[in-house]
Amino acid sequence: MAKINQERKKAGEPLFANSRNAAAGSIRQLDPKITAARKLDSFVYDIDAIAGKFPATQIEELKLLGKLGFKVNKEYRHCKNLAEAQKMHDEWAGKKDKQPYGIDGLVIKVNSKKLQDILGYTGKAPRWALAYKFAPAKATTVVEDITVQVGRTGALTPVAHLRPVAVAGSTVSRATLHNEDEIARLGVKIGDTVVVHKAGDIIPEVVEVLTKLRTGKEKKFLMPKKCPICGSAVERRAGEAATYCTNKKCFAQGLEKIIHFVSKKGMNIEGLGDKIVEQLLNEGLIKDAADLYYLTAGDLEPLERFAEKKAQNIIDSIQQSRNVELPKLLYALGIRHVGEETVRLLAQAIFNFQFSIFNLGKLIKFFPKITLEELQRIEGIGEVVGKSIYDWFKDKNNVEFLEILRDGGVTLSKKSEVRSQKLRGKVFVLTGTMAGLTREEAKDKIRELGGDVSASVSKNTDYVVAGSEPGSKYDKAKKLGVKIIDEKKFLEMLK
Ligand SMILES: [Zn+2]
Repeated sequence: MAKINQERKKAGEPLFANSRNAAAGSIRQLDPKITAARKLDSFVYDIDAIAGKFPATQIEELKLLGKLGFKVNKEYRHCKNLAEAQKMHDEWAGKKDKQPYGIDGLVIKVNSKKLQDILGYTGKAPRWALAYKFAPAKATTVVEDITVQVGRTGALTPVAHLRPVAVAGSTVSRATLHNEDEIARLGVKIGDTVVVHKAGDIIPEVVEVLTKLRTGKEKKFLMPKKCPICGSAVERRAGEAATYCTNKKCFAQGLEKIIHFVSKKGMNIEGLGDKIVEQLLNEGLIKDAADLYYLTAGDLEPLERFAEKKAQNIIDSIQQSRNVELPKLLYALGIRHVGEETVRLLAQAIFNFQFSIFNLGKLIKFFPKITLEELQRIEGIGEVVGKSIYDWFKDKNNVEFLEILRDGGVTLSKKSEVRSQKLRGKVFVLTGTMAGLTREEAKDKIRELGGDVSASVSKNTDYVVAGSEPGSKYDKAKKLGVKIIDEKKFLEMLK
């Protein structure tokens, strides 16, 4: 095909994109001289019968064709089982590009002609043969958006958000565009159809923009003037392609926010440790926590020290965290002054205002309706915390963050609702180790029943639950005359 394209280039004719099109285009020519000039060649795979005799197997058929002088591809092999066929396919995936002809897969056939006859045909294709294609090393997809990520050095990296597409064995939804100059070199706009490949078979890259497919609705990407994480001014230093956030603490703050978001008391995304969050941020795969809900295993696999399984495990954990209890979500948001206790009170108050809010959309609509005074009046919240919550939900960026979470499939779990008020108003302090449940489980149980958990013993404490080897809280409770209960009694209260 290379030869044909060379000649077409000389003659100023459009080039063929692949050998299949080149061959089909050549045969379709009305002038046989043109077809002849293309010097097509072929391998023959099929002959019906010779002198009334039918070959009994596919292998015999190919041998017969060879004997008769037809060109037969000598690479055929008789595989005894599917594993052998897979092995051959894997071998060819590695050497397909070194052949003097283009191939996009192997055809696997049932060897016995008798079985072929029994299997027969569907409307279009034989049931005894299957084209097993190689994973494409390149694919065409659409750039749905270009966003900017901030890395450890403060460099702003534009990233193309792609319509998910399979490339070389995994699904790709993001590709780095490196910097402004690279975007200019590619000429890529938001909405463009592009060719994506994996550099070194690992890192997804946009290699070409198919400008002929433009509709006119594509949007030019402009580097933001302010940092998307901290809002500080950005600068492009002389002699460098990268644009930087001018705030030195920027990356660290963004990182801390995400670590808080995924923590156990927040969205509780297992396996997503600090180091991995940093890696994701640094590689430009996420710019904030909401982006986590748009990642695919294919996005993670290229990362250093990420095998396929690890990538999938993290995607699974993220998936599991999608259905979250309201207090945990409120905690994850990292609103100033709003800790573990406040989120319980806030969630309870939200339920009191509006009995059930089981989706994020409703929660987003709820906050503009509540006044600052109403928030500050919530028991245990007060002026400062109330103002902090009010301001957080008034900030457009925060609302947008919630909307991105909602669109990423985050929903509120029904468990959010406090089912019973059995322990309402009762304050518990936990000390020592319980045999039947962890500290976190005990806290959850108390809160589910409307009770509160406090870290220290005071006159306001109703019960101190003492497990084995209780600490100083036990002594303090005795001193203050607070009721001390053991695990057994505690479990009875929960019933
Ligand atoms: Zn910044």
